[in-house]
Amino acid sequence: MRAVAIDGSWESWRDAARGLLAEGALPGDVVFCDPTASGDLFSGPPLPVPAPTGVLKVPRRFLDEARYVAHHRSATRWGLLYRVLHRLTHGEAELLANGLDPDVHRLRALSKEVHRDAHKMHAFVRFRRVGGDDDAEAHYIAWHRPDHLIVPLVTPFFVGRFASMRWAILTPDRSVSWDGVTARFTDGVPRSAAPSGDELEELWRTYYASIFNPARLKVGHMRGEMPKKHWATLPEAALIPTLVHEASGRAAEMVKKSTSNGSAAAFVPEGASLEVLREASKRCRACPLHESATQTVFGEGLGGARVVLVGEQPGDEEDKQGHPFVGPAGKMLDKALAAAGIARSEVYVTNAVKHFKWRPMGKRRLHQKPDGGEIEACKPWLFAELRLVKPDLIVALGASAAQSLLGKTVTVARDRGQRLASPSGDVIVSYHPAAILRAPDDDARDAMFELLVEDLRLVRKVLAA
Ligand code: SF4
Repeated sequence: MRAVAIDGSWESWRDAARGLLAEGALPGDVVFCDPTASGDLFSGPPLPVPAPTGVLKVPRRFLDEARYVAHHRSATRWGLLYRVLHRLTHGEAELLANGLDPDVHRLRALSKEVHRDAHKMHAFVRFRRVGGDDDAEAHYIAWHRPDHLIVPLVTPFFVGRFASMRWAILTPDRSVSWDGVTARFTDGVPRSAAPSGDELEELWRTYYASIFNPARLKVGHMRGEMPKKHWATLPEAALIPTLVHEASGRAAEMVKKSTSNGSAAAFVPEGASLEVLREASKRCRACPLHESATQTVFGEGLGGARVVLVGEQPGDEEDKQGHPFVGPAGKMLDKALAAAGIARSEVYVTNAVKHFKWRPMGKRRLHQKPDGGEIEACKPWLFAELRLVKPDLIVALGASAAQSLLGKTVTVARDRGQRLASPSGDVIVSYHPAAILRAPDDDARDAMFELLVEDLRLVRKVLAA
């Protein structure tokens, strides 16, 4: 029996195997000796690695599997790899297609176990911050106990993920540290060598609680995916019993929200201030309009304003900037307000629908009128704003705003200028500035503008009273 010394790495076995193949060494005559293996069956001191020679052609699939198997803890893995390699290069080129072959079966089983272990290490390593008050000096350390000898295998993953941090991952077998440039491998260390708590844990717990989905809770699956031996190093493990306990209640709440189709009511927090409402509206998913819009555009202006102006929906510019009436229609509104003697700072301005509805036209986004369902869905936001602002008068700019406020189809040309009663207070209907911009000609535009100013003069009287 010939003993060949390798250093326990995939690369050293690969080089040795190439040399042995070139020398014609039979699998049964070779035993690989490495520092990670225990109880090697060789007698006498190991021999130096034969020098690799020539180009060796083996199936890509073997190399892919072999690289994983090389990181298995099994002491027999090197012999198995050499046996399979020898067979592949000595008349059994299709060997890997035979899953019933004992060597192929074993190769796949070991590869699968290492894949699974690497996946768990990617998922369960938790870094803890050590040293350095400022971020530039911070260093992060994690301790993990993998089943196999996978530290070199998973290192590229962590380097890619945390390239700009300085970190070390300690394991009982091997450790690796990254200084932002180079990965260095050192001996393994016991669990006691790693720190156990820091401020990042609290952040991680908060994050985990926020992403925990009670509706998808499968306790058995969770135990399988998060083996108990990793719990000691997972900050979120302490949360799991509570989250599991609360899961059924939270799932019911989620079902309520998901079945809230057609109304934003489930997203509107009770007793909230305008600021809290604005924040909450960012999470509204009550209708599909949020999917294609950049952001929610909530109302703005004087909290206790005596007049609220309600438009239809944000336009292209409002959608990009996140503020109501800041595009061309906003400029037209400012002009009309000024002509009526009203400062924008005296009023609260909002829209009946909080997300921009549009369709593509070349590189442009063309405004589309929200339908009745979308106006209805968004009503709870508008009504919540009105309850808080408590205006004396509401101006519905355009038919969509009037429909939202009055609950019926309104014709602006017919109903404008009158004070109409609504559940939220008195409403005056007028032209939307965007409709004025879309007027067919200058005369029509001037006429509509004058009517809007006339209606706003009524508002001026309210403000002056
Ligand atoms: S348009 Fe209104 S109801 Fe629809 S998702 Fe946006 S905020 Fe919610």
